[in-house]
Amino acid sequence: MSKQDYYKVLGLERNASPEEVKKAYRQMAIKYHPDKNPGDEQAEEMFKEAAEAYEVLRDVNKRQQYDRFGHDSMRGASGFGGAGVDFDPFDVFRSFMDGFGGFGDIFGGGSTRRSGPQRGNDLQIRLALTLGEVATGVEKTLKIRRQVQCDKCEGSGAKSDSDVKTCTVCHGSGQVRQATRSILGQFVNVTICTNCQGEGKVITKPCPSCYGQGRVKGEATVKVKIPAGVASGNYLTVRGEGDSGPKGGPSGDVIVFIEEKSDSRFERHGDDILYTLPMSLTQAVLGDEVAIPTLSGKAKLKIEAGTQSGKILRMRGRGIPHLNSHGKGDQLVKLVVWIPTKLPKKLKSIFEDLAEHKEIFPVINDE
Ligand SMILES: [Zn+2]
Ligand SMILES: [Zn+2]
Repeated sequence: MSKQDYYKVLGLERNASPEEVKKAYRQMAIKYHPDKNPGDEQAEEMFKEAAEAYEVLRDVNKRQQYDRFGHDSMRGASGFGGAGVDFDPFDVFRSFMDGFGGFGDIFGGGSTRRSGPQRGNDLQIRLALTLGEVATGVEKTLKIRRQVQCDKCEGSGAKSDSDVKTCTVCHGSGQVRQATRSILGQFVNVTICTNCQGEGKVITKPCPSCYGQGRVKGEATVKVKIPAGVASGNYLTVRGEGDSGPKGGPSGDVIVFIEEKSDSRFERHGDDILYTLPMSLTQAVLGDEVAIPTLSGKAKLKIEAGTQSGKILRMRGRGIPHLNSHGKGDQLVKLVVWIPTKLPKKLKSIFEDLAEHKEIFPVINDE
């Protein structure tokens, strides 16, 4: 069966905002969560598809790649983040709900926690970019403090290999099944094993370096490639660079939130940038050619004779590259006449002469 379009899966338009992506996924995930639809295979399929679509569309880079190249580009470990479609729909859902703080018990049982080693925390980092960096894209090296694997015990948390024993209560499965009888029949209740906290293993002698945690505080450098055209509010996920999980559990992710620094020359409006150019009265009346700054160096701009103050000129393709499609925005140049405030006598008399020409310099009365 061929794959469904990710936008269709979530019922979104192709230009959906990150907020809309989030909202759509939340609705789908809650509606089709297997806990809510026990035994319903179709619902489970929908739950998985929604998670996969969300994983791609929430990530600036993956979304861009998907928009350009479709599903094929999502396969394997290529590109930024490297995750492809290798993900777990329950992890997606859990980290999504964690982000909302306390939605975890929405199904009343908290039964979404699965057995096995716990995953490390995701780390959130803010990254401020100049407009120039936004325009070209940039690779940044971030120094982050995070939990790293303990090298003494290689993450196991045990003093030596023989100090890790299979849990005798759950026999390594991390789960305990309990059958209860009632007048309606027999129910099997699966819960996390409390003896090993679902890990299936018990440490008899903890590693003295990490006190049995399997991880210690440390520092790491993480490289992140930012595509051109991002804006404040966008974020990127760097897979597996977050906190190491306890006792050898998988690492969390680093989530990089983009912030845009304000620019002294340009004002950003979507993918267009606005530059305000003061021109003299004579330039406005007689016309001129000037050099003005753009995101890629100076460019020539022609001021036509008789240009009104406030006129906006459009320099096509001189703006910010579109993030999710080809092409670039424009540079808008607002021409504003600068009026001299002090005039030498000789010049003042020229203006007085000009004022006599009422057909060109009419006196406007608001009566
Ligand atoms: Zn156990
Ligand atoms: Zn250790």
